[in-house]
Amino acid sequence: MAETTDLFIIGGGINGCGIARDAAGRGLSVRLAEQGDLAQATSSSSTKLFHGGLRYLEFLEFRLVREALREREVLLRAMPHISWPMRFVLPLDPEMRFEGGTPVSRMVPFLRGRRPAAMIRAGLFLYDHLGSRAILPGTSSLDLTRGPEGAPLQPRLRRAYEYSDCWVDDARLVVLNARDAAARGADILTRARVTEARREGELWAVRLADGRSFRAKALVNAAGPWVGKVIADVAHIVTPERIRLVRGSHIVTRRLFDHDKAYFFQGPDGRIVFAIPYETDFTLIGTTDVDHQGAPGEAVCTPAEIDYLCTFASRYFRQPVTPADVVWTYSGVRPLYDDGVSSATAATRDYVLSLDRKGAPCLNVFGGKITTYRRLAEAAMGKLGPLLPGTGADWTAGVALPGGDFPVDGVQAQVEALRGAHPFLTPRWALRLVRAYGTEARVMLDGAQTAADLGRDFGATLTERELDWMMTREWAREAEDALWRRSKLGLRMTADEVAEVGRHMSRARVAA
Ligand SMILES: Cc1cc2nc3c(=O)[nH]c(=O)nc-3n(C[C@H](O)[C@H](O)[C@H](O)COP(=O)(O)OP(=O)(O)OC[C@H]3O[C@@H](n4cnc5c(N)ncnc54)[C@H](O)[C@@H]3O)c2cc1C
Repeated sequence: MAETTDLFIIGGGINGCGIARDAAGRGLSVRLAEQGDLAQATSSSSTKLFHGGLRYLEFLEFRLVREALREREVLLRAMPHISWPMRFVLPLDPEMRFEGGTPVSRMVPFLRGRRPAAMIRAGLFLYDHLGSRAILPGTSSLDLTRGPEGAPLQPRLRRAYEYSDCWVDDARLVVLNARDAAARGADILTRARVTEARREGELWAVRLADGRSFRAKALVNAAGPWVGKVIADVAHIVTPERIRLVRGSHIVTRRLFDHDKAYFFQGPDGRIVFAIPYETDFTLIGTTDVDHQGAPGEAVCTPAEIDYLCTFASRYFRQPVTPADVVWTYSGVRPLYDDGVSSATAATRDYVLSLDRKGAPCLNVFGGKITTYRRLAEAAMGKLGPLLPGTGADWTAGVALPGGDFPVDGVQAQVEALRGAHPFLTPRWALRLVRAYGTEARVMLDGAQTAADLGRDFGATLTERELDWMMTREWAREAEDALWRRSKLGLRMTADEVAEVGRHMSRARVAA
């Protein structure tokens, strides 16, 4: 049996990997088991924003919004390759009436189903000032009758507000946290489902589906939408705490507009939907908010959700968006703490950490956002640290993730340096590599004078060198891990090219 570790973490999403990195950097021994691929569940299915959540102000979630707003710039500085500032255009629609009202209009009846411009402006004022900001510009007004932002929109939309949040590549965020955790000594196991965890004296005895077993002083249940299942069926803990599964789906279309800002649209049901520039040539539209029945792993974007998102976006865009325009969809399940409120939209997005001390400690993680993962990890260590002698202090604020050791506005300089060293790279190819690997792109391409030095070309600028990097350093095993999580090159590849990537990866696994 392998040596006993301080922590055993169940779940390789952002919360599990964020806690693994934080704990390993504090000097603890850490093992993490993920049943499939890293980020295979909710953490690759998000809207991919580091955001405070403007909408949550209406639900009076001030603690969450303040923490998330403050966190945006901390995270941007630590990962300027995979995240960047983004401006959001919020059109003011004179015709919009909200069926059933909005959370605020239900409290202030004279608003009768309206979100007047003054109220939106007040919300944005709070948004600008609740958390600190040094990089991100504040809110401004926009005349949609001029400039590129109004061009793709319906002519009735004449005014908008514009505010800041950030974009992040969620799946790479998870992988880079896992890599940094491993570099600090953590043992990261993928395709490793935990089937049993039992208290034995002062320790947890953990068993995997393949028969391997491990011991640890403390258990962290960061199983996301499976958190309740792990509590009941794996760790056999009795607790009244419940989880609520709320599905969110996105659609991807060919690019619908020619600028790099995103749109924030309001719908008559009071919900909001984003339309975001995606992977240069595409637009990402989402999300829905539907209570999810069935297994978390079975979440798919239904035809009804595709129709909902198309109708929502068509209320704003000049050119209607139809299901025929959709080139890809994805769907994830939010693991929300069940606070007993009735609607999926209103369920709290805040996280809850619950420590079970009936014997060796077990920390159950409920909810959370991509944006607050680092703070959640610190809070988790705040609970577990006192129980594990020798635990170091908070350290992750200000420490770059792998490849992120350059200034926030330094991407173009990285691209130029990379092209200087490897002149065969096109600007677009170099940008893609810098956005994925940051300063580590130079390590990956080391010694390559021509494209042929990077081995086979699988299409869409994916080379054997890059694929091998994903397999040997980023735990990629299947084509989907490489083409739909560690990259989104699947959007640009033919079925034959995808199949060839899969064959290469299975040959490489046999050879290893
Ligand atoms: C549609 C949608 C949009 C969102 N948009 C945003 C956004 O823009 N910004 C933001 O900040 N947040 C956003 N979120 C929230 C954010 O994505 C989630 O809160 C976060 O990804 C949850 O991460 P997690 O690690 O808890 O769960 P997950 O990513 O689901 O990870 C849990 C992991 O545990 C593994 N696991 C489960 N059981 C076992 C077992 N027995 N053994 C081993 N492994 C196991 C699973 O395979 C899974 O990979 C969004 C969520 C959704 C659904």
